[in-house]
Amino acid sequence: MKAIQYRSVGGRPEVVQIDDPRVGPGQVLLKVTASGMCHSDEFVMGLGKEQLPFALPLTLGHEGAGTIEALGEGVQGLTLGDSVVVYGPWGCGRCIKYAQGKENYCIRAKAEGIHPPGLGAPGAMAEYMIVNDPRHLVPLGDLDPVKNVSLTDAGLTPYSAIKASLPKLGAGSTAVVIGAGGLGHVGIQILRALSGATVIALDLNDEKLELARKVGAHQALPSDGNASAGIRDITNGLGADAVFDFVGAQPTVELAGSIAAAEGDVTIVGIGGGALPVGYGTMANNVTVRAPYWGSRSELIEVLDLARSGAIDVEVETYGLDEGPEAYARLHAGKISGRGVIVPNS
Ligand code: NAD
Ligand code: ZN
Repeated sequence: MKAIQYRSVGGRPEVVQIDDPRVGPGQVLLKVTASGMCHSDEFVMGLGKEQLPFALPLTLGHEGAGTIEALGEGVQGLTLGDSVVVYGPWGCGRCIKYAQGKENYCIRAKAEGIHPPGLGAPGAMAEYMIVNDPRHLVPLGDLDPVKNVSLTDAGLTPYSAIKASLPKLGAGSTAVVIGAGGLGHVGIQILRALSGATVIALDLNDEKLELARKVGAHQALPSDGNASAGIRDITNGLGADAVFDFVGAQPTVELAGSIAAAEGDVTIVGIGGGALPVGYGTMANNVTVRAPYWGSRSELIEVLDLARSGAIDVEVETYGLDEGPEAYARLHAGKISGRGVIVPNS
């Protein structure tokens, strides 16, 4: 079958022919209907040999949707042909975090060498993919896989981050979204659907600011030296009750810290390598700073339900497998509007 792989450190994604995967005991084989491209793929492809936590070549794609093509020995309760999405943050399935419904914070995954598909295990940018356990599938029902595959990460990650701050986001509050890309433009819609907050988006790029307004941001401002003053202005000097940084670079985490109101939340989702010093007097009083990872399976079910209600419309650019390298070049250059989605079996 055809797949998009990252094959050697420092390289770029390539379209290659590889063996069709064979489903093992307890596993599920999907015929892939869609796979989203995430900026984290770019992060991984920017790591040096010593930093890369898994072996190459790697079939990319940690946002995956497909139809059930075959069931491994012992797998029951799934119907061939059903449309599903893949819950990506795979863990051991036995630890206390799993028992709490938070497989994304598995305490054994690292030690046991368990990796998400597309981030260590073979991912969804191929005609077929193996899902290691039926618990990692969530029914998609009649939601369009191409439009909704990215809810597995670009939806789930902001959903989980925003849900944690909802007690602070009642009427009259302010939420700031830094970076209106794949995650950010979905985050804006989730904030509009679930909170009473005035939503302010910041980005460097005018087209992303335009997209932010289109998907529901009340205000969209350039992420420059005036952003902090602009937000103080809009909030009558109080600052934002929650800031979601979908970039995570040094200038954006500093901006996030500087605009958080007393008792506000700063959530650093982007993995841009920035660090925010936390200590008495570094920010407004009692600001909470978090750096979460992905989300839980139950939150994925919720975010799909939110899309089903009509509250989330992911902006997608679609590409065939052969166009993958070109699509990744657009992602690298910051040119994708919303999410780039590979449609392997089109
Ligand atoms: P993306 O490339 O689609 O979007 C990034 C956006 O940020 C773009 O619109 C870009 O113009 C904007 N931007 C860049 N620099 C900026 C700045 N200084 N100020 C304001 N805006 C700026 O990326 P994405 O796929 O949405 O991913 C966003 C980040 O989240 C990435 O760092 C990714 O690796 C990370 N991520 C983290 C998790 C997690 O679990 N923590 C999950 C998924 C993605
Ligand atoms: Zn991702």
